Amino acid sequence: MTQNPPDLRPDLAHARVPRAADAARPGQPTIGMVSLGCPKALVDSERILTRLRAEGYAISPDYAGAEAVIVNTCGFLDSAKAESLDAIGEALRENGRVIVTGCLGAEPDYITGAHPKVLAVTGPHQYEQVLDAVHTAVPPAPDPFVDLLPATGVSLTPRHYSYLKISEGCNHKCKFCIIPDMRGKLASRPAHAVIREAEKLVEAGVRELLVISQDTSAYGVDIRHREDRGHRAHITDLARDLGALGAWVRLHYVYPYPHVRDLIPIMADPASGLLPYLDIPFQHAHPDVLRRMARPAAAARTLDEIAAWRATCPEITLRSTFIVGYPGETEAEFQTLLDWLDEAQLDRVGCFRYENVEGARSNALPDHVAEEVKDERFARFMEKAQAISAAKLEARIGQRIDVIVDAVDDEGATCRTKADAPEIDGNLFIDAGFETLEPGQIVTVEVDEASEYDLWGRPV
Ligand code: SF4
Repeated sequence: MTQNPPDLRPDLAHARVPRAADAARPGQPTIGMVSLGCPKALVDSERILTRLRAEGYAISPDYAGAEAVIVNTCGFLDSAKAESLDAIGEALRENGRVIVTGCLGAEPDYITGAHPKVLAVTGPHQYEQVLDAVHTAVPPAPDPFVDLLPATGVSLTPRHYSYLKISEGCNHKCKFCIIPDMRGKLASRPAHAVIREAEKLVEAGVRELLVISQDTSAYGVDIRHREDRGHRAHITDLARDLGALGAWVRLHYVYPYPHVRDLIPIMADPASGLLPYLDIPFQHAHPDVLRRMARPAAAARTLDEIAAWRATCPEITLRSTFIVGYPGETEAEFQTLLDWLDEAQLDRVGCFRYENVEGARSNALPDHVAEEVKDERFARFMEKAQAISAAKLEARIGQRIDVIVDAVDDEGATCRTKADAPEIDGNLFIDAGFETLEPGQIVTVEVDEASEYDLWGRPV
């Protein structure tokens, strides 16, 4: 139905329509869904659709076939808010009956001010309210003989990988971020519930689990790392337990707290299932900028930590995101960031220019950076990051590595290495000898070509 601009934030998943869309039987109530925003919002969309499917609704892949459309919005940046309003406008034009939910739903007046004709507005995680709004707009007509819920619920991602949300909310107060205001304090799911969901996904054919939350390393702090039914709610235990299920396990949004060190030996063990991959949003490297951001773990000696991780697990891939042009950022502070990047040699890097977000405390900081300076720093940052990425990928030529196949068509197979998360990192392409490959298969390839972000190889 609609797409986010892919460069809106480096870690945003594209908006998409559900893969579960299928033909509605005559008389079956039918709903459409536009899912905007990050992987966390995607998980919320999946939950809503799972419930609707369980209640007998069909999911329409287009506006025309839907009796009403749910728009799951993103409100992280002002540009994302504008994007959400556009998506609501498009759904109103194309379908006319629109229910709004998600992060931007926390500001109902903002939505109804622009689009007074929406049927209902609910906030993030208000699943029951969304369902109530759907029931009012399109009454259910359950048929227990045909409405069988797939064991995995409804997935918006390809069948062989799935996001796994382990907690919601955040106990930090980074000045540029309004997520704690919108989503509340950290609320971890019990470990046994996470493991049970993961087991069901793996049984249903999922080969890669993408662990997400606002702050993955803080998992379980709010429930005192409680152990229940043999599973302890601590990220180290959870990583080990998930890794034992036989799928690849990839951790996103980890902060460099000291206990993250305990994850690295697990990643170094190829039999553990935990991929040697850490997605750590550092955001900056200069201690004064980090303090002005009020970042968690701002005092950590990150270069020393990175060196220690690499000593334990030389294979580890480090991905991060950064903000350039944060209020008060001087040329010297920015240069520190560039020098840090030279030292840190991160494998994957995303960058976005600072922008004010309504309600964020950073708006009131002095010395905002001029737009042209932000643009210039962004270009310098990306040039360096690209050169590092290109050199690292070049060094992989000749290596034999395992890849997971994401898609196969007439031209070739699109795959990912253990170093590539779906949606946000690069790919490995196979353009010869791919005919028997299938999505979800894990195959060994020899790398024979590299660009700045992608690799090419052939099965061995
Ligand atoms: S850690 Fe900071 S940036 Fe991340 S969700 Fe919490 S407040 Fe926002």
